[in-house]
Amino acid sequence: MFFYSLKDKSIKASFREAAITGQAPDGGLYYPSETNILDGEFWRNIKQVDNEEIAFQIIKPYIGGEIPDVDLRRIAAETVAFDIPLKKISHNISTLELFHGPTLAFKDVGARFMSRCLGYFSQNKDSKEVTVLVATSGDTGGAVAAGFHGVAGVRVVILYPKGKVSALQELQLTTWGDNISAVAMEGNFDDCQAIVKKAFLDNELNERFKLTSANSINVARWLPQQFYYAFLWKQWEDKDNPPVICVPSGNFGNICAGMLLAKSGMPVQKFIAATNANDTIPTFYQTGDMPDKKAVATMSNAMDVALPSNFVRIMEMFMTRDELIRYSESVSITEAETADAMKELYGDFQYLADPHGAVGFAALKRYLDNNGGKGVFLETAHPCKFDAAITHVLGITPTIPAGHDDLSQKASIYTTMQADFDTFKAWMMG
Ligand SMILES: *Cc1c(COP(=O)(O)O)cnc(C)c1O
Repeated sequence: MFFYSLKDKSIKASFREAAITGQAPDGGLYYPSETNILDGEFWRNIKQVDNEEIAFQIIKPYIGGEIPDVDLRRIAAETVAFDIPLKKISHNISTLELFHGPTLAFKDVGARFMSRCLGYFSQNKDSKEVTVLVATSGDTGGAVAAGFHGVAGVRVVILYPKGKVSALQELQLTTWGDNISAVAMEGNFDDCQAIVKKAFLDNELNERFKLTSANSINVARWLPQQFYYAFLWKQWEDKDNPPVICVPSGNFGNICAGMLLAKSGMPVQKFIAATNANDTIPTFYQTGDMPDKKAVATMSNAMDVALPSNFVRIMEMFMTRDELIRYSESVSITEAETADAMKELYGDFQYLADPHGAVGFAALKRYLDNNGGKGVFLETAHPCKFDAAITHVLGITPTIPAGHDDLSQKASIYTTMQADFDTFKAWMMG
């Protein structure tokens, strides 16, 4: 197993190299050389296997022996050391709750795995400190900070759009100190992401720092997201009728991981990529063109992405757009439809969903109403992370789970900056 660049396929890297550098030297995303890596026995026996072992078996082939099995088992076990339950909502809709980790969003899975891999690699060989640069629309930064806080040999710099993350998210980004720095950018998420991308291609920054990315472009964050799709199938009762799986999508890393696991044999009826008003990919499914738009702000702000970076990986998975469309759908849900979905879930099913989960529910329900079958939407964050939206739509305040409610006691430390690459570079070099 190796990884190749999706720009120039002759550029290759091992897992270690790909995890430490984030993206290929030509700016391309890395993609695994083998994709069908689990056998029928794995899928037949999954009910009897514990989650730690499932995670280990899924990830082992990608690592190519660069982390010994005993360490990799420990890393895999720590990555999935919280509940990921499948809960029934209605006769044909269930939800996979991915928000029981330390920062209450699914990104904990990828961030925990990646931080432990980089921790392992930096303890071993050359000692130059690794600097993780991460652009976040809200949840990634917190998960990465929680994963990396206190990891020796790794520094983390988080760029987030000022005023466009929720209060709890901002606390989860800015209250760490030590090896974690937060930069509040006067711009949107796409601006933050553009600055990070430019930084990776900048010679002076690369001479000075060993830079890597903790966005889902990094294979060490992207690949472990396959784990919970396997947990979904493990908990799925009607094994003769595989689920329609609907994933609230922004950068499309999450759904792309699910599609990758399906390449390894996970039974799926159909994948639905649900977006909010940022409808670049739904438009591509309909017309074949990707409109060149700016991101618009919505209640589901972790998905306010105009140019999803992982979509090139999805295109690599499918030979043609026709094949992609047979296998999956992509649907845009408006703000009004998101609010209606939150009200329906709460009123009819006593289920408090966050706006991202609600986007997934709305798209899934529409699909099942038209096509029949049963499905699962991923609930990607705990509702308390988006309390302003919940209060606005439902008139209630979600409670923060025990153990997460003490952040407001801590000091918030961040640097405010114009969303401009040269300003950022000067700050890094200074
Ligand atoms: C990041 C995020 C998403 C989008 O995931 P992608 O992998 O970028 O498509 C959806 N919901 C929540 C809550 C998120 O934090």
